[in-house]
Amino acid sequence: MKSKLQVMKFGGTSVGDASCIARAAQIVAEAARENAVVAVVSAMSGVTNRLVEAATRAGAGDAEAGSSLVEALRRQHHEALATLVSSEAAPSGVASRVDDVLAEGQRLFSGTALLRELTPRSLDAISSLGERLCAPIFAAAVSALGVRGEAMEATDLIVTDSYHGGAEPLMDMTQQRCEARLLPLLKENCVPVATGFIGATREGTLTTLGRGGSDYSATILGAALNADEVIIWTDVDGVLTADPRLVPDARTIPEISYREAAELAYFGAKVLHPKTLRAVMPAGIPVWIRNSFAPERPGTKISPLGRSIGGGVKALTAIRDVALISVGGPGIVGVPDVVGRTFSTTAEVRANVLLISQSSSQNDICFIVAAADAQRTLEALHREFAQDLSHQVVDHITVAPNIAIVAVVGENMRGTPGVAGRTFNCLGRENVNIIAIAQGSSETNISFVVQDTAMKQALLATHREFALAGGNER
Ligand code: ASP
Ligand code: MG
Repeated sequence: MKSKLQVMKFGGTSVGDASCIARAAQIVAEAARENAVVAVVSAMSGVTNRLVEAATRAGAGDAEAGSSLVEALRRQHHEALATLVSSEAAPSGVASRVDDVLAEGQRLFSGTALLRELTPRSLDAISSLGERLCAPIFAAAVSALGVRGEAMEATDLIVTDSYHGGAEPLMDMTQQRCEARLLPLLKENCVPVATGFIGATREGTLTTLGRGGSDYSATILGAALNADEVIIWTDVDGVLTADPRLVPDARTIPEISYREAAELAYFGAKVLHPKTLRAVMPAGIPVWIRNSFAPERPGTKISPLGRSIGGGVKALTAIRDVALISVGGPGIVGVPDVVGRTFSTTAEVRANVLLISQSSSQNDICFIVAAADAQRTLEALHREFAQDLSHQVVDHITVAPNIAIVAVVGENMRGTPGVAGRTFNCLGRENVNIIAIAQGSSETNISFVVQDTAMKQALLATHREFALAGGNER
């Protein structure tokens, strides 16, 4: 077998149409001349969203939505296939494999509409169709370039628990399957093209890893095969110092650590599915983010330790569409269970808490949740603290909408004095009002809450302050 083993994942936009697939297949075929390559593909862009929407309508009894989507997908995928490989050259069976997946889709939509019930299990089955349509076409495109590509359903590779819509891999079994199924193909210089996003339980029931989960599929396969590297091919140059739509001089970071990348993913930098790095961390396998539309660019390498840079700040990230909830009043001073009850309430309503801040005067606990969770959380808190509110132990539970969190991220901020000082100084100079502040003791991020109208200015000011556009030693 060739010396280096690479797992390459192509996201929805990188397989968005025939010309994108051709470009991606070219990347794979070229790499496969030197290395053993496993490809992982997403659905063509937008397909999963359309499937989920039609599934929801089928669940309400509308069978038509599914049928017309199946026909649209038939046209779209056959057209891509025909553009990519002439019918004589197409390995027999690709077109009929596509039709088989579509026929299965049609049955799933009809069954769902008939029962008027969309279970998590059937939603997973329907959402998986996009990847299952894309993989055979991608494999045919690779084969057309003279390297044998073989489509594989990840239901035969990734064994998961049965948590539909967000399944977790069972790594021991996954490793056995991957070795048994993939190594023989790699030995024959073949490129397995696996469907991203999906797996199956031990009993063989299809599951999905959660929306955007193909990144995770790639690192799961990378870990199972102990690959030398995983490359996530996407439509941006890598991990950037900030969102370029807000900070025009943002630039690609050459190398960052797992931890920094995870902080950025957590705070909404949409480069990676948040679970992606979990799979490769134990083995320390590097993950690259690269642009399939500009493969000559180096991209970002995510490695166990990253590379340190001058001031320690690597990147900025921001999330909007969040709300700040505060629970407080002078009466809560010294009442030991207010914090506990607040967060068991958020857990009960499954609101994901993004940031917490409490000052030592204990007058007020504030935390941030997604705007979509805010109302539910507020109502639950009012129920929980009804007694305390009537006795004025708690005098307010309020929510402030139109809030944003900005985070300054960098692993080497740890033990570097002055980062917080510079951050807040520069914000002060720009007149950005800070509503709340949090820094974890890991010191890998300093987060602050601002009015969302001030978010852009906060990003621009901190980006400039830490010379992230270049000019410092990196
Ligand atoms: N196609 C799936 C989605 O859109 C998985 C992925 O793209 O990673 O969520
Ligand atoms: Mg996608």
